[in-house]
Amino acid sequence: MNIACLDFEGVLVPEIWVGLAQRTGIEALKVTTRDIPNYDELMKYRLDLMRKHDLRFADIQAAANGLEPLDGAEEFLGWLRTQFQVVILSDTYYELAGPLLRKLSYPTMLCHRLEIDSEDRVSGYRLRQKDPKRASVQAFKSLNYRVLAAGDSYNDISMLQEAHFGMLFCPPDKVIADYPEFGVALNYLELKESFIADNAGSP
Ligand SMILES: [Mg+2]
Repeated sequence: MNIACLDFEGVLVPEIWVGLAQRTGIEALKVTTRDIPNYDELMKYRLDLMRKHDLRFADIQAAANGLEPLDGAEEFLGWLRTQFQVVILSDTYYELAGPLLRKLSYPTMLCHRLEIDSEDRVSGYRLRQKDPKRASVQAFKSLNYRVLAAGDSYNDISMLQEAHFGMLFCPPDKVIADYPEFGVALNYLELKESFIADNAGSP
């Protein structure tokens, strides 16, 4: 029995915070897990910037609402769900992901929660657990699933390492250079073919 774990931003949908940067014109918000691998450091940086520019939750929500899944994502996910159980393992937040999940027909997603105060400011965030992507894969393995995984960035590496089969999907060059042990898919067709090939060779 196989379960496919996919990252969300960069694999099925665009980077939500990059969308916010474009919407607000605040270039510094374009920084993602590709630039700052330590997630706590990255979120502190984002929340500091939001405070500095007096951005409210409504602003990031509007940016998220304006995004569409990547070209071909819906079709790929539809195919994947006919072949495997599929779970999205993401470091985004339920509060932000809702509109994009709706556009993808509500796949199962495990992610985090934002804390929003009474003035609609993002006051903090609550990570579901430590090293959540690795822990999720470990949990699925404990349920006797064989795990295939794909992600694009540093925050996916522990998921790919823990999975039985892991692929990078459209990663930046520096991630490829830092983790040459993983195969690289440059489009959904290549990812699909790698999953099919792994599945054919698995017990
Ligand atoms: Mg990503």
